[in-house]
Amino acid sequence: MGPGLLIKAVAGRNFSLLTFGVAQIVMDIEPLVGIIRDSEVLHGYTHTYLAALVIAPIVVLIAPILGRPILRRWNRELSYYHLDCLVSPESWAHLPVIMGAFSGTLFHIVLDSIMHADIRPLVPWSNSNVLLDLVSIDALNQGCLVAGVVGAIAWLFFGWYQRERNGAGHPTR
Ligand SMILES: [Zn+2]
Repeated sequence: MGPGLLIKAVAGRNFSLLTFGVAQIVMDIEPLVGIIRDSEVLHGYTHTYLAALVIAPIVVLIAPILGRPILRRWNRELSYYHLDCLVSPESWAHLPVIMGAFSGTLFHIVLDSIMHADIRPLVPWSNSNVLLDLVSIDALNQGCLVAGVVGAIAWLFFGWYQRERNGAGHPTR
């Protein structure tokens, strides 16, 4: 979720972080099933750029259904703790959801390509994976953690800044 937080800080209300999260869950259904069934290949056909482009529209359809109660609860908690600057609109506009879904599935393939030896991200065009071991898994995890922390701080700051600009007490929805 680290890169998602960073994108959220930059894109603000044009990006649905919750949809990005739903995309991560949907993308890892295949490895989960593979683990349960003790499969040799965990990152198969759903872990390709082509599949990511097919799965993203499915995420666009299901993210609002799955995310609506979570977002409602999240906004209520934020309001309770006087963090109105981080409250997100509950309207589920198309653009943020589309941005969250496509960046979520495609980023997932990029990061998994670096980590997992069984992934063939360019199928059906190629069986190669040029990103494998580009950086160590430790470095990748640390990079995601840093992105998440920086993104969360920046998101908080921009939210606060926007609220101050709009006048305190008026949440930016
Ligand atoms: Zn995965």
